[in-house]
Amino acid sequence: MTKAAVIGLGTMGPGICATLARAGLTVAAFDLSAEQCARAPAMVDMATQVLEKLGVNLVPGGSVGIVESLDRAVAGADLVIENVPEKLELKREIFTAICRVAGDGAILASDTSGIPITDIQAGMANPGRIVGMHWSNPPHIIPMIEVIAGRETKPDTVDWMKAFARRIGHLPVVIRKDVPGFVENRVLYSVMRECVDLVERGVIDAQDLDTCVSWGIGYKLAVVGPMSLLDMAGLDIYNAVGSYLNRELCDRADVAPYVTERVAAGRLGMKTGGGIYDYTPEGIAALRDERARKLVAVRRILQE
Ligand code: NAD
Repeated sequence: MTKAAVIGLGTMGPGICATLARAGLTVAAFDLSAEQCARAPAMVDMATQVLEKLGVNLVPGGSVGIVESLDRAVAGADLVIENVPEKLELKREIFTAICRVAGDGAILASDTSGIPITDIQAGMANPGRIVGMHWSNPPHIIPMIEVIAGRETKPDTVDWMKAFARRIGHLPVVIRKDVPGFVENRVLYSVMRECVDLVERGVIDAQDLDTCVSWGIGYKLAVVGPMSLLDMAGLDIYNAVGSYLNRELCDRADVAPYVTERVAAGRLGMKTGGGIYDYTPEGIAALRDERARKLVAVRRILQE
């Protein structure tokens, strides 16, 4: 397998292109936005430099080319990875276009963060080759990939995707039921809901919450996963604490005003110069560098 197509070059696409090219694939990438197409080569280069620092195995012969249409990208591809915004109708439109051009043997993957693959593949030609391939951001640094089978995905497609994720130096996990949010985001959003609630209720301020989670459970979870942590602490302890604490935890079904009010005021985070914290353009550049450097250092240690 040598040729891949990446559709969508926003936050996720460029890092994915760099990872595939590093593994020796010829990548044809397309984005509807001319602006994103113009920015993408520099973003691919930056991700390639990080892969070099990570010491990820280099398979010679890989390349990334930006092409002017979806059809050009998909024609002849063995694997297509869709990375357009998280809207079911848009994804179905893109998959319909991909299915028209893709060869019968091509694997068609969606990087959706949590839209059931069953909903994306319904009514598509040859749905057995459509599969979830959920990368984590930044996709060239975080090695875990969720592989999700929709109702009609063939077991062979899942096996192929697992082997492919390993081939590019990533770590596949198989999501056995196509539940909304899959697993990574279900866990993350349950943590986020509790964190936002604690800050909103004044139990802790945002900065101390970040310190508490990053240097407490976050740091530990990178080495000992939650199921192993249960064994490490003892199931009797979980049983005792969970019996009074579970009923205290936030269980709201909507999004807290702490977030919705900021969104309404245009405070979306780094992209608008402020969200929970405030940012300057120089501060954002420095933070991005610092975070990439630390993630690279931690991954190198964890891989030893
Ligand atoms: P993004 O908005 O940054 O980028 C999406 C890109 O798709 C844009 O550049 C846009 O121009 C392009 N696009 C829109 N319509 C198109 C079309 N018809 N044809 C071609 N290109 C089109 O989004 P993102 O953050 O890169 O997310 C992409 C997908 O990956 C989403 O499904 C998202 O949920 C998922 N994802 C995101 C993250 C994350 O942290 N950002 C992590 C994992 C998965």
